[in-house]
Amino acid sequence: MIIPVRCMSCGKPVGHLWEEFKERRRDEDPKEVLDELGLDRYCCRSLFLTHTDLTGKVSKFKK
Ligand SMILES: [Zn+2]
Repeated sequence: MIIPVRCMSCGKPVGHLWEEFKERRRDEDPKEVLDELGLDRYCCRSLFLTHTDLTGKVSKFKK
């Protein structure tokens, strides 16, 4: 759905990093991008690596 504003496990604010991660992971190694964004904990890293952005699909069903 939409990336959470904070990591659900540790509470670190991560929502503002999603757009940059999405753009850069096309060309770069995701590990390098996560390191440079300062996401050190594995809870935050797994959140970014496993997130699927469904905003476009869900918005078709808006009332
Ligand atoms: Zn975390």
